[in-house]
Amino acid sequence: MGDWHPAPAARWQPPTGWGTVRNDAAGPRPGKEPYVEPVEALERIAFLLERQGAVTYRVQAFRTAATVIGALSADELRTRARSGSLARLKGLGPKTTRVIEEALAGARPEYLTHLEEEAGGPLVEGAQGQRLRQALRGDCHLHSDWSDGGSPVETMARAARDLGHSWCVLTDHSPRLTVARGLTAERLRQQLSLVAEVNERLAPFRLLTGIECDILDDGSLDQEPELLEQLDVVVASVHSKLRMDKGPMTRRLLAAVRNPLVDVLGHCTGRQITGRPRPESQFDAEAVFAACAEHHTAVEINCRPDRFDPPRRLLRLALETGTLFSIDSDAHAPGQLDWQIYGCARAEECGVPPERVINTWTERQLATWTRTGRTPHR
Ligand SMILES: [Zn+2]
Ligand SMILES: [Zn+2]
Repeated sequence: MGDWHPAPAARWQPPTGWGTVRNDAAGPRPGKEPYVEPVEALERIAFLLERQGAVTYRVQAFRTAATVIGALSADELRTRARSGSLARLKGLGPKTTRVIEEALAGARPEYLTHLEEEAGGPLVEGAQGQRLRQALRGDCHLHSDWSDGGSPVETMARAARDLGHSWCVLTDHSPRLTVARGLTAERLRQQLSLVAEVNERLAPFRLLTGIECDILDDGSLDQEPELLEQLDVVVASVHSKLRMDKGPMTRRLLAAVRNPLVDVLGHCTGRQITGRPRPESQFDAEAVFAACAEHHTAVEINCRPDRFDPPRRLLRLALETGTLFSIDSDAHAPGQLDWQIYGCARAEECGVPPERVINTWTERQLATWTRTGRTPHR
């Protein structure tokens, strides 16, 4: 587990957008307004499970049930609940049906109450990272079900908005990463139209277009340059041949971070610290960070508890070298968007000031920087 210290569960503070749950005493209140709408109860349960790091299949039932009943009218839902025919709906099981019935009866569903207690507390202890987290306006790295994420694009965007962000960047994988259903140029173009539609619905929140583009063995990028040019943000990461020798790996990373199309260097060491651990890739970090600083490429502080990449010593080196940083959730599910606090805690610990973090900028400041390299503070 390395240096990850999960905090003990404490009392949950409702984030913005979670306004429908009332915190007064639970219990059925027939004929009155429900404590929580059934759809929101199911979504909140899924969110908490994801935030806790649950594997996708444990969460899917709740997300599916939310979609199924979200398509019914309130009357239809109540009629079905009264006649006991909810469980016959495709996509509902005993557990999800119970949550819905309890919510409809005006109670706070028992499973939700249990989860809030167990998993609803702060993810880090005390004030660690809080100041920096409050300064963040967005997230530059997240996945949808177009590649290896578990949720639709719009669900991810709504969750980012509900966490208080004003923008986020959709960064699904590139074609060569077939295990993660990387997007061909054609699918990425289709995704751009979807992003435009989502933006019409979610304005003033902005979903920016992007990609997590594989850095190929020779340092070139795994997508058509003309298409990369059109995207708001390009995160470039190594996902193959992570154990390449130090020399070639340094040249590979240098080529990528010097590429004017690249904005963020994703999880630079590729290490995995939980599950099946994987060591850091070997490269001349000083040279790579110096090139990042010179060529306006931010170094990502990847917040996933299984990565925490870069390790602190490299984070401090990047800071000394003068790079910018991007504190990214690399979320593959809505609840994982909340993991940014981990990266904020590590950044604060290493002395990273907010003005060096590109996600503290407005969408416009970010766009100016990706186009011209000009930062708001210089
Ligand atoms: Zn990655
Ligand atoms: Zn990723």
